Amino acid sequence: MNSENLEKNQIGWRFDNTYSRLDDSFFAPATPATAKSPRLVILNRRLAVDLGLDLNGISPEAAASFFAGQDLPPGSQPIAQAYAGHQFGGFTMLGDGRAILLGEHLSPTGRRFDIQFKGAGRTAFSRGGDGYAALGPMLREYFISEAMFALGIPTTRSLAVVTTGDTVYRQTRLQGAILTRVAASHIRVGTFEYVAARGDETNLRVLADYTINRHYPELADSPNRYLDFFRAVLDRQAALIARWQLVGFIHGVMNTDNMAISGETIDYGPCAFMNAYSADTVFSSIDHAGRYAYRNQPAIAQWNLARFGETLIPLIDQEQKKAIEIATEVLGDYPALYQRYWLNGMRSKLGLQATESDDLELVQSLQAWMQKSKADFTNTFRGLSADVLPTADRYTDPDFQEWHAKWQQRCSRESQPITVIRADMRRVNPAVIPRNHRVEEALFAAEENNDLSVLNRLLDVLKAPYEVGPDSATYQEPPTDDGSYRTFCGT
Ligand code: AMP
Ligand code: MG
Repeated sequence: MNSENLEKNQIGWRFDNTYSRLDDSFFAPATPATAKSPRLVILNRRLAVDLGLDLNGISPEAAASFFAGQDLPPGSQPIAQAYAGHQFGGFTMLGDGRAILLGEHLSPTGRRFDIQFKGAGRTAFSRGGDGYAALGPMLREYFISEAMFALGIPTTRSLAVVTTGDTVYRQTRLQGAILTRVAASHIRVGTFEYVAARGDETNLRVLADYTINRHYPELADSPNRYLDFFRAVLDRQAALIARWQLVGFIHGVMNTDNMAISGETIDYGPCAFMNAYSADTVFSSIDHAGRYAYRNQPAIAQWNLARFGETLIPLIDQEQKKAIEIATEVLGDYPALYQRYWLNGMRSKLGLQATESDDLELVQSLQAWMQKSKADFTNTFRGLSADVLPTADRYTDPDFQEWHAKWQQRCSRESQPITVIRADMRRVNPAVIPRNHRVEEALFAAEENNDLSVLNRLLDVLKAPYEVGPDSATYQEPPTDDGSYRTFCGT
């Protein structure tokens, strides 16, 4: 490293580029576009510390320039990754059209993280798009991904958002922005689909071996590693989707290019958290058929995993028929696997440690009641964990009282006293989630008035979602009307 680079690197980047050392067909070199006047909007100092970065010594101007991609760190090698994907069921060749991967940063504890600029300009995969992103959607991803992290759900992280000083044209003129995304990797189901679609079996093996090594190293010596790999990815996705369902998170665009092999939640577009419980909830304005509705998420994940399994067929067995048979059998385990994660999660939400055969029915009857009475999903569970059930008209409903009596009886058969059960419940049922109307309010203040105070207050509360602080009450309140809430992809 020369002295200029050393200076640039006083913040502690340690880049490696194993992905771009794989085959050339996996990516295209890319360069972040020139940004007119970068300005730092938000910086995740806690995450920076976890990554081993020391941002204290650098000026806001230098940070803005860096996070706008104007000052690349030594050792980075910017690329756009190639991938394909099934979007709303249809197959397309895609690739990073508005994201540039700097490489992999190695943290002091030896962990490897992709560092990616989202919204940094056109790449070889931009097709008709401008490669840019607007401030609102980038802040939205920052918010929701960090809220998911605080909830304990596997997710990509957000390190910074800057505005570029350039205008982005969508339906209106918007401020251009770049999000710095931190991920275990950006390898997707769609990455495998891309290589498989090219019929390149050699590189399919290269990609599978690389991914196993990076995310499932325990399988490296397994005699049937590719099948075990499939099984392990299935397991992580089953666990992940169960976590989404348990907090009412609706991803919105579960295309195969938005499903990470690492098992992290990725690509926060038109996602949102459900308020009033309704299994049909859809927020995305482009999801007319409700393909990615709340209730469909587990089955869609399995559909995506079937597409993943198909790519692995040539690696699983030389005899295609046999490979398909084995993979189909493994995929067939998914519903039961998911159901186990979900039901165990529901048991925890209801404070139950033991397993009883009627537990599923107990959960389902609560869901039916929430659906019927339009009860708030988050507050219902949090309410049950309170020492005194909150007073609300709907709790006087005889159906609820009947359910509540059953649940209390069920709790009495647990080994823990109810006070301990409730305390345990408060550790798994969030008090605050990023409610749509609060998120919109914060984004509006930031976008329209350059006022970040609303956003920072919300972020502060979301950092400890299981705790009730002096500020929580405002953020626990559901919106008065959520029925017409729609989210947009922000592309
Ligand atoms: P997403 O909806 O963010 O998952 O993106 C789907 C595909 O569209 C990906 O290949 C993106 O890279 C691409 N894309 C989204 N927005 C843009 C844009 N503004 N310019 C170029 N490509 C884009
Ligand atoms: Mg995507």
